[in-house]
Amino acid sequence: MDRNVETFRTLNLSIDISKLPTPIYIVDERLLEKNLKILKDVMDKTGCKILLAQKAFSMFSLYPMIGRYLSGTAASSLFEARLGFEEMKGKEVHIYAPAYREDDFDEIIKICDHIIFNSFSQWKKYKDRIKAAVKEIECGLRINPEYSEIETEIYNPCAAGSRLGITIDNFRDEDLTGIDGLHFHTMCEQNSDVLKRTIEVVDRKFGKYIKKMKWINFGGGHHITRPDYDIDTLIECIMYIKNKYNVEIYLEPGEAIALNAGYLAARVLDFVKNNIDIAILDTSAACHMPDVIEMPYKPKIVGAGEPGDYPHIYRLGGLTCLAGDIIGDYSFKEPLKEGDILLFTDMAIYTMVKNNTFNGVNLPAIATYNDEDGLKIIKTFGYEDFKGRLS
Ligand SMILES: *Cc1c(COP(=O)(O)O)cnc(C)c1O
Repeated sequence: MDRNVETFRTLNLSIDISKLPTPIYIVDERLLEKNLKILKDVMDKTGCKILLAQKAFSMFSLYPMIGRYLSGTAASSLFEARLGFEEMKGKEVHIYAPAYREDDFDEIIKICDHIIFNSFSQWKKYKDRIKAAVKEIECGLRINPEYSEIETEIYNPCAAGSRLGITIDNFRDEDLTGIDGLHFHTMCEQNSDVLKRTIEVVDRKFGKYIKKMKWINFGGGHHITRPDYDIDTLIECIMYIKNKYNVEIYLEPGEAIALNAGYLAARVLDFVKNNIDIAILDTSAACHMPDVIEMPYKPKIVGAGEPGDYPHIYRLGGLTCLAGDIIGDYSFKEPLKEGDILLFTDMAIYTMVKNNTFNGVNLPAIATYNDEDGLKIIKTFGYEDFKGRLS
C-alpha cells in the first residue's frame, strides 16, 4: 500500500492526501475531546477547577469545545487573557505574569477575574486600582516552594536564583489583606508522584498562609492525559489540600489539554547525499517546531523508527538556511520518495504558539479533523503574515 495512504489509515483519518496543503497542523478533535473528558472527570470527582494554560495551546477555534469541559483559561500576558476572554465566552480568566506593565493594567482589570502577582511590590503597586474596579477580582500571589524535580534548568521555576514566585524567606504575613489565593507552578511534563512530594513541601512551608486563603492553584506541568498518569494520586493530592484548608483547588495544565491530539504533516521536497542520506522537507525545525532545537527533543513520526529499527535511514532537515535546522535521524521501512507525507506526532502543543517566519518560511496551515466534517482547514498563511511583522 502507498505509504501516505497507510499512514492516514493507521490514524483513522480519512483525508484526500493529494489536496492536503503542507505543512499543516491537524488537530484531531476526537483526541482533544478524549483528553477533555479525562480532565472533566477529575473536576467532577474532586470539585476542583481546571483551566487551559494558553501558553501551550491557543488554537481558539477550539475554545468553544474546550469551554464545554473546563472552567476557563489561564494567561501569562494581556493578549492571552484577551484571547481567553473573547473566545471562551463566559468562562473564568486568570492571569499571572512575572511583572505587569503599567499601560496594560487597566485592560487586565476589565478582562480578568483572577490576577496573580509575582511579588509583594507588584501587589502593593496595583491593589488600589483593583479595589476601585467595578467588578469583583480575586487576587493571588505566586509562591516559590523551592522544591521541584525538573532536570532541564530552562524549564525549572525553582532553579537557584529563579525570578518566579515568592520564597518563604521573602513572604510577608502582614501584606495579605485582599489576597484570596496562592499559586505555585513547579512541574513540567510530570506525573502525580511529583505533585505529591511538592504538596508536602508547600503544605509544610506555606500551610499557615493557605489557612487564610479561598483557593490554591497547583499550576501546570501535570501530564494528566498521558496513558501512564496516576490520576488517583492527583485526586488524593487535591482532596488532601481541599479538605485540610477548606480551599478551592485550581489546576492550569497546558500540555495535558492537547497532548498527542495533533500532527504536523510535511512533504519531502528533495534528497541530498553527504555520507548519509538527507531528506529536505517543506517544514522547518527552526520555524515550525522550535522546541526540537530549544528543548531539545526529537519528535516521533508515524510509521518511522529510530535509526536501526528499519532499513532506510534518513536525516530530516528543514528548508531554512540554518545549518542546524535538523529534525533528526529516522529510519523507514521503504525508501522515502519526493512528495511523501510525514506526520510528526504530538504537534498541537507548544509548536503552533511558537511558530515564526524566520528566513521567510511560511507558517503551516491549521486544520481540524472530526468524523462528521473530516478535515476542515481553519486557516492558511501567506506573504502578508511574514511582511506584516517586519515594518
Ligand atoms: C507554562 C505554565 C503552565 C502550563 O504548563 P504545562 O507544562 O503546559 O502544563 C501553567 N501555569 C504557568 C504559570 C505556566 O508558566
